[in-house]
Amino acid sequence: MPQEKWNYSPFWEEVVSQMQSTLSEQECITWLSRISYVESEDHKLVLAVPSLFIRDYVATQYKTLIQSKLHELTGELVDVDIIIKKVTPSSESIKTAEKASESVKTAKTTHTPAPFPKAQKKPRDININEGYQFESFVVGDNSAFAYNVSMAIAKNPGVSYNPCLIYGGVGLGKTHLIQSIGNYIQENTPELQIVYVTAEMFTNEFIQSIGEEKTPQFRNKYRKADVLLIDDIHFLQRKASTQEEMFHVFNNLFEANKQLVFTCDRPINELRDIADRLRNRFTRGINVDLQPPAFETRLAILKRKCEGKACHISSDVLEYIGRSINTNVRDLEASLTKLIAYSQLLNKEITLDIAREQLKNTYSMTKDQSLSIDSIIRVVGDYFNVSPYDIKGKKRTKSVVLPRQIAMYIVRSITEFSTTEIGYEFGGRDHTTVMHSVQRVKGMIQSDAGVSNSVQNLIRQAQNFKRESQ
Ligand code: ADP
Ligand code: MG
Repeated sequence: MPQEKWNYSPFWEEVVSQMQSTLSEQECITWLSRISYVESEDHKLVLAVPSLFIRDYVATQYKTLIQSKLHELTGELVDVDIIIKKVTPSSESIKTAEKASESVKTAKTTHTPAPFPKAQKKPRDININEGYQFESFVVGDNSAFAYNVSMAIAKNPGVSYNPCLIYGGVGLGKTHLIQSIGNYIQENTPELQIVYVTAEMFTNEFIQSIGEEKTPQFRNKYRKADVLLIDDIHFLQRKASTQEEMFHVFNNLFEANKQLVFTCDRPINELRDIADRLRNRFTRGINVDLQPPAFETRLAILKRKCEGKACHISSDVLEYIGRSINTNVRDLEASLTKLIAYSQLLNKEITLDIAREQLKNTYSMTKDQSLSIDSIIRVVGDYFNVSPYDIKGKKRTKSVVLPRQIAMYIVRSITEFSTTEIGYEFGGRDHTTVMHSVQRVKGMIQSDAGVSNSVQNLIRQAQNFKRESQ
């Protein structure tokens, strides 16, 4: 049987997870989550979509990307066939759809139909991923405080620690914790009305409710909540009217002793363009942070993630991953998934050499944090013949300002650093300076093909620089 020899399913899952991190939430909802795995044949992956319209779109917009990712992951040339299949959901397609919609989970609201409804399961009225549980969260020194506070809230919502703000960088477990709170309460106190939403969804719903003259319904939904969980509130920056709405929602619930939990990717005082009164509300209760895990915790997380998986990975390989991936838990998980997929496809045990080789490819492919700001500054400095010292320094001469701005622009485009972090690395500048520089270079790229070419070249050089130094 071809399926036994060729099984691209784990690779397809990896492709989906990589695409999620580069596509917008809207694209994930509209297209990616509609694609499901069908079968594998000799050098061919068969995918299905529910309509001709979607097939045409996916074929023109994503097929090449999918093929090239498969090529990178498998080392083989894999053809992709997209067929049309009206879906009666199989467990496989549900799994894929759920994965494809990690950020999309939050979007499964009344106006966005879930692509693959969970037919047999008791319907849950909260759009929280059931996989995010306290039990599956590995606690380390970096997260113990946030974990304990979250657990206390889940056990006694609205009693203490209200409101609660969990903050920390990308991939450190904010969503996992806030959704664990929701799952725990849903399980143990099902009579409580839980509302989980990302700040982005809150904003979209609010704007939509205005357009459709349904603000009372919108307000009602939030007013009825006993537990309101809002993920990623940094999204509210610069959105004055949504902030105002959030302020009222906050006050209503807080005065009624309802539990409020928020997450944010940075401390509240580093948010810009947030009304002071709202800032003040967010910080009113308890603020807990999540830090990147230390090596021991990274190893414990990797071991935990291996449990229950059919594939065995030796401890020296796990240690290797734990040492090399020090950015965040999401990157750790991605590395592990990739190695497991590889091992399953080739039916081979992962050796250290294989791990090195495989992880090298993964991390040169996507946006990442391990590409350091300093290496980008060096590449740009070399090109313009300006020293890194001057790029980070105070000089405001034209010959230094342009390279500095271009370097900031490149850092912002190809890494995950926030404007605050970039400002800090560029000689302690304010994040607004970084934003201004990025805007200016964007403008120049649009109006000047020469600048656009140079910047593209520099980006390539920065990426090669990193590859060579590995
Ligand atoms: P954030 O919302 O902070 O960007 P997530 O909560 O989405 O991060 O976490 C990214 C991934 O890492 C998720 O799959 C999550 O389950 C996992 N993860 C994060 N922290 C932990 C942890 N301490 N233990 C186990 N898994 C974790
Ligand atoms: Mg998150």
